[in-house]
Order: sequence, then structure tokens, then C-alpha cells
Amino acid sequence: MFADPSPLLLDGRTAPGSGGTFATLDPATGEVLGAAADATAADMDAAVGAARRAFDTSAWSTDLALRVRCLRQLGEAMARHAGELRELTIKEAGAPRFLTYGAQLDGPVEALGWFAGLAEGYAWETDLGRAEPMGMPSHRRVRREPVGVVGAITPWNFPHQINLAKLGPALAAGNTVVLKPAPDTPWCAAVLGTLIAEETDIPPGVVNVVTSSDHALGAQLAEDPRVDLVSFTGSTATGREVMATAAGTLKKVFLELGGKSAFIVLDDADLRAACSYAAFAAVTHAGQGCAITTRLLVPRARHDEAAQSTARTLRRLGPGDPSDEGTICGPVISARQRDRIEDYLRLAREEGGEFACGGGRPAGRDRGFWIEPTLVTGLAADARAAREEIFGPVLVILPHDGDDDAVRIANDSPYGLSGAVHGGAERARAVAARLRTGTVSVNGGVWFGPDVPFGGYKQSGIGREMGVAGFEEYLETKAIAEGVS
Ligand code: NAD
Repeated sequence: MFADPSPLLLDGRTAPGSGGTFATLDPATGEVLGAAADATAADMDAAVGAARRAFDTSAWSTDLALRVRCLRQLGEAMARHAGELRELTIKEAGAPRFLTYGAQLDGPVEALGWFAGLAEGYAWETDLGRAEPMGMPSHRRVRREPVGVVGAITPWNFPHQINLAKLGPALAAGNTVVLKPAPDTPWCAAVLGTLIAEETDIPPGVVNVVTSSDHALGAQLAEDPRVDLVSFTGSTATGREVMATAAGTLKKVFLELGGKSAFIVLDDADLRAACSYAAFAAVTHAGQGCAITTRLLVPRARHDEAAQSTARTLRRLGPGDPSDEGTICGPVISARQRDRIEDYLRLAREEGGEFACGGGRPAGRDRGFWIEPTLVTGLAADARAAREEIFGPVLVILPHDGDDDAVRIANDSPYGLSGAVHGGAERARAVAARLRTGTVSVNGGVWFGPDVPFGGYKQSGIGREMGVAGFEEYLETKAIAEGVS
């Protein structure tokens, strides 16, 4: 049912792009999978116009029952096509199959129902009761209302997760949306548009999907005065640009950005188990996850033992064909991304680092975009390769001198997205409490889920996605006071 070339979704209709088409690739082979509609500035202009009209003139923002029904329809439509969507996600995003049973597909589809249920039971109005401010008897109420038109700009690494983490709460709250996905994964977004047009009652203009090879369309969305909120996920550098662009019209900005999260092993932890865990976490989906823990902090006295143990596990973890059930580490998304990772590997060497395993392209993989699971030892904590986001299957191991030192190193970062601590429960909990990050895993706990707010401290972002906090990012607050006698 999914067309090649994939279409845009503009004002309720699937449509070709005014700029023709662009290719989407299979990162595992480098081959062209097919083509996607290439939108121009005029298409983006039409999409924003449609979203504005739908918000201002349709019942979408006020008809909660319609919204709840439509969100459930979308979830059901995606579940009906889960087989095709799974293969598409593996092909286009290079996502390992096992991840599609969780965060890459099934998890985000289920989250649509969660947001529908949240909106259904939400306290849209709070009665503050009567008071006499300045001697004027008044009955006060506080209402929550949708913000308006949401410009959603997303990256390629977890396309369904991130597209739906924006659409779900934004639509449940009563907003209309223009979705601009990354040029590397247009099909994963275009299928959403097709399902919305063909298998849901979502009114025309409520969702518009604008695929394009041109990043400038993201900036156009951030700039357009008809857009009330920009919800952006991507790199910190681009997030900064989005915020600056959006400042022109002082629109609300919601940012989910990069990270360089720490995995802390305390001296009372089961070192081998913790290192296995860290290795697995670091190279899942070839390390292309913003919240992945990419700095492994281990007790200095056991550094070499930890490095050997981690390297052993990393060697066993691939990389492998993403369509195989057992693959943890698949390809990286593009030649550009592979080259960027290789630049960081060169930099790590220049900064005194050595590779306990990996360090380049795997043998026998001449087609597609691949990097071996890599462990870098011997870097100083302030080396660039130990501080900057690499976004590949590259783990840096660093020694620490106890809990305070581990917390200091972990927090000495411009980022603050996530973290992990392994050790005796009480100490691990105490260390977790001191990390300046939006999420922390303690002894293997998993924080991912629709009811769990996710986001960053510091330069990892502004705001929270998912959970009640994530829903409320898409709401305005209005106080109404009525004169009474
Ligand atoms: P990117 O910042 O290059 O692009 C993200 C999106 O922004 C794309 O749709 C792109 O077309 C668009 N864009 C590019 N320039 C723009 C501009 N000037 N104005 C508006 N939009 C613009 O990121 P990427 O390479 O697609 O994704 C990888 C990055 O995303 C990593 O840094 C990763 O950490 C981050 N990320 C963060 C989270 C999170 O939730 N914190 C989740 C996933 C990925």
C-alpha cells in the first residue's frame, strides 16, 4: 500500500512534491530503496497555511471525542500495517529488528493510545473558586488549551518514535501539525501521512507531512509567524539555530538535543555484568541514540580489567545485518555519518587514545555504511573525543577515583541528557540523584515508556517529551475570572 515515490500530505490529500523527488537509501547496502516527494518552500507554505486553517476553523481544537477517536484510529492503522512498517524501518533507518519490537515501532504505536487516554481523563479546567482580589468578588477558573500550529522537525535515528512522540501529544492536546522529517528517513514519515489520509478521520490540514531533501524547509517552519510552537529533535548545533530563528516571532520552542551520557560503575558493582551492560547499551543501533551512554566511568584500580571485559563483549556484538533477529549493532545511517565518526576516531588517536577493539570499518562489508563497535582507552576526560557527541558505536572508557569523582566527571559536560549507575543500591541511588541529567538508569532499570518524561538538562534540550509533562508542553494556560456578587 505504500507508494514509491512516497507523497507529501498537504491539507488532507497525498500530493507530489513541487521539487520532484529525492532518493532514500538502504544504509546496510548503500542501494537506493526508492524515491520520496521533494517539497519546496511553496509546499511548506501551503502546509503551514493548511494547518493554520484547520486550527482556526475546524472543530479539531475543541472536539476532544473526535481527537481521541482519531488517535486510536491512527494507532490501529499502524498496528494493522505493523509487518510492512517493521520491514520499512529496518530497511530505511537501518534499525536492528529487535528494536522494532520496542522503541523503533511497537512502543511508539502503543503510545498513541496512551496519549488518547491521557487527553480523555485530563483535567482541562481547574476551578480556583471565589476570591475578592482588590475587593472585587470573582470566580476564577484555569483552562488548558492547545497552543495552535505545531512545527515538528525530526531526525532520522528513531523516526517513528520521534515523529509519534510529537504527533501523539500535540494532536491529543488539540493542536494541528506540520511534520518535517529528516531527509534520510522520508518514507517512515510519509507512511504516517498516507495512513492518516486513508485510514483515519483526522480532518484535512490537521496533520501535514512535508518530506524534503532541503534542510532549509526546517528553518522556514521555525520562522513562519503562523506557527505557534516549534518542537525540534536533533543535534544541539541545529537546535541552537532553530531557537535563534524562532526568536524572530517569539514562538514557543521545545528542544530535544544531543548527549554524551555517562555510565558509572561504582567499586561495589559486579564489574563484568556492568561492563557487558555498558557495551550493549553503547552499540545498540550502532550508537545512534541521543540518550546512549557513551562514556564508561570505572574504578581506576579496575580500569584494565574493565576495558578487557568491555572489549570482549563489544567484539561479540557485531556489527550485523539489521534484519537478523540477533543483531544489536547495524549500519550507520549514511556515508556522511560514517565519515564523521571516522573523523572522531582519527581525533581520538591524535588525542592519545587507543582502540581496545574496533576503530574503523568492519572487514567484509564493502557496501553500505558500517563502523565496528569500538572501545577507546587512554583519553583524558577533557579530550574532545571524550566530550563531544560522536553518534556512532564508539564507547570511551575513563577511570574515576570514587563516587564523588565519578559524579564530577559525569557532570562536567555541556550535555545533560541521560546516565546510568551500577553499584550497591543505596550508593547507586545517591549517585543517580546527583547527576544533572533528565533520565538515569540505576542497576539496569529502563526509563523508556509513554508515561515517563524524557529530556535534557543544560545543552541537551528545553522541555520534556512523553508523559504528562510531555503532553503539557503542547498546552497554553488561560485564567478566566468572572465577576460575581
Ligand atoms: P540534525 O540536527 O542535523 O537534523 C534534525 C532535523 O533538523 C532534520 O529534520 C533536519 O532537516 C532539520 N534541520 C537542519 N537544519 C535546520 C535548521 N537550520 N533549521 C531547522 N531545521 C533544520 O540532526 P540529525 O543528524 O538528523 O540527528 C542526529 C542528532 O539528533 C544527534 O545530535 C542526536 O543526539 C539528536 N537526537 C536527539 C534526541 C533527543 O530526544 N534528545 C533524539 C534523537 C536524536
